[in-house]
Amino acid sequence: MPEVLTAPLVVEFPFTRSLGPVQSAFLTGLRARTVLGVRASDGRVVVPPTEYDPVTAEEIRELVEVGTTGTVTTWAWNARPRPGQPLGTPFAWALVTLDGADTALLHALDAPGAESVHSGMRVRIRWAEERTGAITDIACFEPYDSEPGRQPTAHSGEFADTDTETNADTDANADAGPVTGIIAPARLDYTYAPGRAQSRYLNALVDRRTVGERCPACRKVYVPPRGACPTCGVATDEQVEAGPNGTVTTFCIVNIKARNLDIEVPYVYAHIALDGADLALHARIGGIPYDQVRMGLRVAPVWTEGARFPDHYRPTGEPDADYDSYKELI
Ligand SMILES: [Zn+2]
Repeated sequence: MPEVLTAPLVVEFPFTRSLGPVQSAFLTGLRARTVLGVRASDGRVVVPPTEYDPVTAEEIRELVEVGTTGTVTTWAWNARPRPGQPLGTPFAWALVTLDGADTALLHALDAPGAESVHSGMRVRIRWAEERTGAITDIACFEPYDSEPGRQPTAHSGEFADTDTETNADTDANADAGPVTGIIAPARLDYTYAPGRAQSRYLNALVDRRTVGERCPACRKVYVPPRGACPTCGVATDEQVEAGPNGTVTTFCIVNIKARNLDIEVPYVYAHIALDGADLALHARIGGIPYDQVRMGLRVAPVWTEGARFPDHYRPTGEPDADYDSYKELI
């Protein structure tokens, strides 16, 4: 049996989003240790606030201040917190209906153990010491023995700091103005196991060979191989070497610079059908001005020292391939 390959794989989409008036008010409020909801057309107070009425889809703007104490409606125990989660020690994910609100907010609840958490328990917000206008300004919830609160009055401040904390550190960033945007880091950490077919493909790449697999039924050669033909539903175990040269079947011009990628824009990313393959793989095209790349362009891989994949493909100088020769591979 060949060695089973595994590797860490991180999929990360850090994106910057702007906030509309409602979300801006909500996060600006959190920075000042105030929780704001919106009043929906049916009179309910929605926290966290939505920009549109959950029933009628009408735009809603009436902000309502709610309490910083609330009631757990339901919860799940998280025994093994993962990196980036609100607390490093075991905690409960809880839906908390804040006093004065009619909907629940999802957040972490710091509790000594699962046996100490129950639906209906009273909790309060533990504020982060440094607040920036983000949901993490609420560090977490914590158990807090208190009576359910009163109904809110719009923006009255009547719920502000009724507990014993001092108000001294309230909104150190007050001069910074309203929060108008957030950076939302979405990140997934995997351990990826490519399986037998792709492991053979990856092992062959070490020798700078491209090995695909042929379907015994339709005779198509898949590069990279997935171990089965998606059309015929049968295993593909006949190995076939493809390339190294190929044909650009289609392409796009990239104008946005990606983080961690040291390539000047614009550049071309293309689908390339390697000679002998019935599936196009994708790679960057170099060695030619971006506006001269075309369908049918014949290309060859360019390897860099120690790399597991070709760095990019460059033109071979051959005449362009006939459209008919690759039209099924676009
Ligand atoms: Zn097939």
